Order: sequence, then C-alpha cells, then structure tokens
Amino acid sequence: MDEQKNLLGHRIPVAVLGATGAVGQRFVQLLDGHPWFEVVALTGSDRAVGQKYSETCHWILADPMPGWARGLEVLPTDPEKVNAPLAFSALPSSVARTAEPSFAQKGVAVCSNASAFRQAPDVPLILPEVNPDHTGLVHAQRRARSWPGMIVTNPNCTITGMTIVLKPLLDAFGIKRAFVVSLQAVSGAGYPGVPSIDVLSNVVPFIDGEEEKMELEPLKMLGILQSASIAPAGFAISAHANRVPVPEGHMVCLSVEFERPGAIQDVAQAITGFQAPEISRGLPSAPQSVIELKDEADRPQPRLDLMAGHGMTTVAGRLRPDPIFDYKVVILSHNTIRGAAGGSIYNAELLVKQGLITNG
Ligand code: NAP
Repeated sequence: MDEQKNLLGHRIPVAVLGATGAVGQRFVQLLDGHPWFEVVALTGSDRAVGQKYSETCHWILADPMPGWARGLEVLPTDPEKVNAPLAFSALPSSVARTAEPSFAQKGVAVCSNASAFRQAPDVPLILPEVNPDHTGLVHAQRRARSWPGMIVTNPNCTITGMTIVLKPLLDAFGIKRAFVVSLQAVSGAGYPGVPSIDVLSNVVPFIDGEEEKMELEPLKMLGILQSASIAPAGFAISAHANRVPVPEGHMVCLSVEFERPGAIQDVAQAITGFQAPEISRGLPSAPQSVIELKDEADRPQPRLDLMAGHGMTTVAGRLRPDPIFDYKVVILSHNTIRGAAGGSIYNAELLVKQGLITNG
C-alpha cells in the first residue's frame, strides 16, 4: 500500500453518481479507505437530493454503511453541483446517456457501469486484465467529442468473468466460436430489482437486452486497438440469459471451439497461468489471482466461491471436453464487485497509472 500511496502523494476527490442503488452502494463500500480515491460527493435522483445519504439510501450490504458517507448530503446528478475530477457512474443507462457526457464536457473522467456508451467506437470498454491498451481510445474520444474529460466503461457483469477466461484461450489456441448460458443473480437487476414473486422457486429465461450484450461486448474487449476504434475479435458468440434466485454472483456455462487444438492440461495451464498485463498488476484493486480454476467436480458455486480475491477473482471449474465444441467450463464472477463497482474502480486505477487521470 505504501508504494501505491506514493504514486500520487494524495488522494483524488471522486464522486459516485447514482450512489443509492445496488452498484452505487458497492462503490461507497469499496471506496471506504481506498488509498488513491476519496469520496467527496454522492448523487442521486430527485427523490433523494438534499437528504442525508443515511436517510435516503436503503443500505443492502452486510457491512455497515461507512460513517463518513452517512452524513453526506445527496447532490443532484449535475456537473455544476459536483466538484471532483473523477466520477464513478452507477446510473441507469437511460440517465447515463445524457448525464455522463455533461460530466465529460466539464473535464470529469467518468468511469461508467452503464451500457449507454459501451459500444460507441471511441469509448473504451475495459477489463484491466484483458485490454488495458484500449484506453488509448480516450485521445480519439476527446478529439471527436471536443471534451476535456472522458467516458471509460466496464462491461456487462455477466460476461466479465467469461471474457477474462476467453482471453488466455484466444491467445493460446485462437477461437472459432463460443456458446454460453448464463445463470444470473437477482442483484444484477439492481434494487429492488426482480419482483420476488417472479423469481422465487423459479428460473426466468429472459433478461431484456442481455443476450445482445453477451454476444457483442467480449468481441470488442478481445479486439485490436486501431487509431480511433477497435477491430473486434473475429468469432461469434451465441448466448442464453437466465435469471435465477441467487442473491449475488453470475455464473456462465461456456463451450468453446478453438482454431488450433489443445490438450486439456494445456487449456488448464493457459487458464491458471494467466496474468494481467504488467501495467494492470499491483494496482489496489487488482486480484492476486486473476483466475482460480477449481478441481472439485461441483465447483464453482456462488455461495462458496463468490468472494474469491475479495470478489475480484474470476472462479472457473468443471473444465472438460465438449463433444460438439472443444471444451466446456463453468465460470463465476461477483456481479456487483468484479462485474460492476470493483471493476470500475480497477479501471480508474489503471487510468491513473497510465497518466490519463491526474489530480490537477
Ligand atoms: P439501481 O439499483 O436501480 O440504482 C440506480 C441508481 O441510479 C440509484 O441510485 C437511483 O436513485 C439512481 N437514479 C435513477 N434515476 C435517476 C435519475 N433520473 N437521476 C439521477 N440518479 C438516478 O441499479 P444498479 O443495479 O445499481 O445499476 C446501476 C448501473 O450499473 C446500471 O446502468 C446497470 O445496468 C449497471 N450495472 C449493474 C450491475 C449489477 O449487478 N446490478 C452490474 C453491472 C452494471 P434512486 O435510489 O433515487 O432511484
């Protein structure tokens, strides 16, 4: 931690936009005591503005609400009212579409969980373990949009773990095609989210817009940075999305066909030996182990494996041959930590290390 503190010398003031929701609360929890960032502003909808955070936020996490957050007044989601060079966005996409550009226009670096800009050609969609170089798009974004700030996004929570596993497989074997079925936790729909009567003792085989994201976003992240856009990876993904009655933790069952054949021990080695690129290692939110590959026949499970690496490690298991594709594997990742707030904070740490966010 000392080395991390010395990188900046002081903490960067940050805002959390949409701080009362499921992801907003994770930001507040994960930023408590963060060595590089200090929360100075929390924003919300008209419902919450002007109230103390502790009065208006229905806190749903097991850890208590941090003391410093309790007394903060919830501000409007308006760059004129928020004074911070970095904003973490946990806004609904419909709101993010206009709010995030207004912050970028004011010179704010916005690290966003919303899907509004993920597919924009000039907006980086980042997993630090996979494509830290794609932040290079920020320069093209600033030129094209004439704003001094930036919008940098993290991917849909369901495909976060899957993309992290696909990366070493793509590098080692090439990928022809992939097929994936998700089992997604209810917290993925925010708070209050899916009505309990719809999901208890049930599986809902439809999540609006999810399959399209699962099929597109990994290809952008696994693609190649060009001067002002990304050339997407050249394989197809077929996705099924399901909501299951699990509080947290998105699981996916992935089958993958390779360009070049590989023995199962080589596939396992590619997964377990995978390390983030040098620039993404050692950051405050970087997991010690990027992917943990379980040997037990019945793992990973959300209840047992969700908090691996403080919720930042991707947990895989059940690696086995597939009679139609080459291999199949089950992957679990924490949807509100690795797939949302923790991922976004990790992205911001990367941007600081790359010199794209400063406190000046
Ligand atoms: P959520 O629980 O519904 O929270 C949404 C937040 O935005 C709340 O703070 C809400 O305030 C605020 N908000 C709503 N309308 C607003 C407006 N007009 N102006 C300002 N603030 C407004 O949703 P969530 O699950 O936290 O998701 C937040 C974002 O992250 C979404 O874009 C979602 O797609 C994305 N995401 C979610 C997950 C996940 O696992 N949940 C994972 C990855 C990405 P009120 O409390 O006053 O309504």
